[in-house]
Amino acid sequence: MQAASQTPRAEQTDLISWGSKAFALLAELGIPPLPEHYTLFYHYAEGKNPQLNEDIDKAMNGRMPFSQHLLKNFYNRYIVAAANDSALHEVTQGTNRLLGEVLRVVGEFGKETSGYNADIDSYLQKMSVDIADHSVQGLIKEIISTTVAMRERGESLHHKLTASKDEIETLKKNLDQLTHESQRDFLTGVYNRKALDKMLAEQFAQQADISVLMLDVDHFKKFNDKFGHLLGDEVLKIVARAITYCVRGKDIVARYGGEEFCVLLPSTPLQGATKVAENIRTTIATRDLKRKDTGESFGSITVSIGIAQVRHSDTAETLLKRADEALYKSKHTGRNRVTAEGE
Ligand code: GH3
Ligand code: MG
Ligand code: MG
Repeated sequence: MQAASQTPRAEQTDLISWGSKAFALLAELGIPPLPEHYTLFYHYAEGKNPQLNEDIDKAMNGRMPFSQHLLKNFYNRYIVAAANDSALHEVTQGTNRLLGEVLRVVGEFGKETSGYNADIDSYLQKMSVDIADHSVQGLIKEIISTTVAMRERGESLHHKLTASKDEIETLKKNLDQLTHESQRDFLTGVYNRKALDKMLAEQFAQQADISVLMLDVDHFKKFNDKFGHLLGDEVLKIVARAITYCVRGKDIVARYGGEEFCVLLPSTPLQGATKVAENIRTTIATRDLKRKDTGESFGSITVSIGIAQVRHSDTAETLLKRADEALYKSKHTGRNRVTAEGE
């Protein structure tokens, strides 16, 4: 719902008309208005996927009945599969927006139904008090029984709407979860390379004054050889946590690959970025790594860091390249160091 209210007005009109068209089609074709079906027909109404529209048109022209199986097949092919490819963000954003719209419609309708029920209740109470004239009693009884039946139908509709609302909310949560997972590195929980690339592009689009840190664990191969890959993995988690601990809310921490991390620091010049990097370096270097069960010490690990600040002529690539060059200067001048570009 929040997403819908943030949508520009013209786009909202589109959403609503696509939404109404989707509802109308479901009703016309006798397809149950489940969230998956609604989502599918919403995408059809929106018309952005010609292949989906062609398949639905074929089915509508009578060559294929809309069986549960066919609908599920379409949903998996055009909605779920699309959510797993590179267009994930757009799809989930769009789907979330339209789910928000359905939730609003359902919520409004639900409210009306309960208001209607409250009216009937007060009406019934009044009637039972007022019945004095026996000649109209039969008629009144009939009205009451019709009204009770209507109320029951209203209640059952209300229950159905509530259930459907719950289902949509679950679907929405699943989509949010899917989006979250697709952006995260599975081992350390920080952003993955794909998410980093996207956020870096966003920073460039906003012409933000950012600095980046490239960070690499020193002699990590030796650590793995000595203590094994599993402990190596634990160290990567510790490094990710330490970096996250040292940065602020709007800073972005990502695993760039292997034992390398990248940090985007929006609105931060080189000097401030150097302070952050030094803080990360010492936080990691002063930590004594111990085995939890036996207390055996693994010594400490260190990281080398390179820093670059964005220039007018930069692309994401050239900015990262300069940070990488600074990182390799840190490596070549002894490791466990921070080097800013130009130093
Ligand atoms: P340098 O100080 O020059 O960076 O030395 P290094 O040994 O860290 O660098 P090198 O690039 O030679 O080796 C990187 C090692 O990082 C190789 C690999 O064993 C380890 N590594 C990369 N990804 C992972 C991972 O996901 N888990 C573990 N445990 N180790 C990893
Ligand atoms: Mg490396
Ligand atoms: Mg390394």
